Formats: sequence, C-alpha cells, structure tokens
Amino acid sequence: MVRIGTHVSSSKSIDLVFDRGKEVGATTIQFFLSSPRSWKWKEREDTEKELYLKKRANFGILPIVAHSSYLFNLASDDPQLWEKSIQGVINELTLCEELGIEYYVIHPGKAKGQKEEKAIQNIIKAIERVFSTVKLKNTVFLLETLAGQKGEIGKTTEELYQLIKPFQTENIGVCLDTCHLFSAGYRINTEEGFNNYKQELDALIGIEKVKVIHCNDTKTPFNSKKDRHEHIGEGYIGYKGFELFLNDTDFCKLPFILETPKVGNWDLENMRRLKGLIKAPVAQ
Ligand SMILES: [Zn+2]
Repeated sequence: MVRIGTHVSSSKSIDLVFDRGKEVGATTIQFFLSSPRSWKWKEREDTEKELYLKKRANFGILPIVAHSSYLFNLASDDPQLWEKSIQGVINELTLCEELGIEYYVIHPGKAKGQKEEKAIQNIIKAIERVFSTVKLKNTVFLLETLAGQKGEIGKTTEELYQLIKPFQTENIGVCLDTCHLFSAGYRINTEEGFNNYKQELDALIGIEKVKVIHCNDTKTPFNSKKDRHEHIGEGYIGYKGFELFLNDTDFCKLPFILETPKVGNWDLENMRRLKGLIKAPVAQ
C-alpha cells in the first residue's frame, strides 16, 4: 500500500494536523513545527502535546514528517546566523523526539558566496553540534535534495553523500524532492534518467537511507536550478516521472508528500492523480 499525503498547516494547535490530513484523505502528512518564516520559538503546552499524541494514536496517519524552518542556514559563514540556526534545529528536533515524529526534513544550507567546500564543512560542524545535544531515538534527521538555486548545497548526490558520510552511525537519511531533482539536472521522468539517478543514489548513499519523497511537479524547465513547485501533471516533469517513483519496488514503500500550491481543491485532485498512477493497491 503506497502512502500518499500532503503538507498541512499546524497553526492554532499542533494536533489539528491530523484533522487537516484526514479532511483530504491523506495517509501520511508533513507540517512545520513553527512559523517557517519567523525566528520566534514557542514551547508547546502539555495539553496540546497530549492531544497531539492521542490523535496520532487514533487517526492511522503515519509516518509523520516535520519540515524545518526556511530561515535556518547551517552553511552560513555569519556566526550569529549559524548559531541561531543550530539552536533552531535543536528546538525543533527536541519536539520531534518528544512527539515521536518519525522524520525531520531540513534543507542542508546555502553557500551565499562562500566556496562550496567551506559551506559543506559548516553544515557538517552544525550537524555535529545538533547530534551532540539531541540524542535521536524516535526521529530520523533527513537532508533534502535541493534544486541548486542561490548557492544551495545538496543539489547533487555527491554533496549529500559528503554531508552524511561523517554520521554513518546516527539516525540520518535523505528526503528526495522530485521538483528539486529535475531542476538540479536529474532527468527522473524518463526510464533511463530515473534508473541512472537511482543507481547513483544507491552507489553513493544507499537506497535504505532514503525515507521520504516530496512529490511535486515543476513550473520551470529541466536543469533550471529553480525551486518552483507545480501541480502533478501540470508541469515539466509530467505524469511519467511520478509513475516511475510510485511503482518502484524500493520507493513505493516510502511516504509520498505533496508540497504543491494550496489553492482550491487541488490537494484532493493531486492525490487523486497520484493514486491513479499506481499499479498496486493504495492505502485508504
Ligand atoms: Zn523542503
């Protein structure tokens, strides 16, 4: 049974993510732990956490994915921003552990004019700090594949490999994003391109390290290095790319999460389109 879901709002109270997921028939969900564009961190009340855990046990929606704030930049050469980012990740990860959230997805970072090797070293040092503070038992820390816009690190399998290599014994893995991969120059919407990418991924990182798939079409042409998500089948990737992922013997076991534009009934329509591409039964 392939699990298909979408990014939902966690505003007001965090337990509402389950109601919002159920509303669109999602069997897996993703959400932000705090406002993704604000540095303010608000500790959750115990009553709110209890309600979350109760619904988690009853709704049958799993696994759960938390997405980190967009403000964090673990690659930064600005010591203040770098420290603030580490503290932000520590706050979010601590809550993930407490709530038993399976996966925490983060964008590795942006080089912002630095040499890429330096940016990669900054990210590694930041992850070391995070892992020495939060002992991960329930949550896996996932680095996401990025499109490569504005100096983003994580646009190639090689870069992701360098980032996770020092942490082989930790709870660390990778989240794939179909839009980002295509924009970064991986032709994942042809059988040949898809197989080549999968082989590269398995050889360098290992398929077992891939835990979540962000399922987005793209508004920009192949290799654009831009990150502009589009509804399934309406963009440059097209149905074929999603069909390849959904019916792959390894990837079909992973949660597929939509991060497509939130307009009208499009969540329902995008989920319907993805389900329609699956050749095996879908989880209800
Ligand atoms: Zn992301």
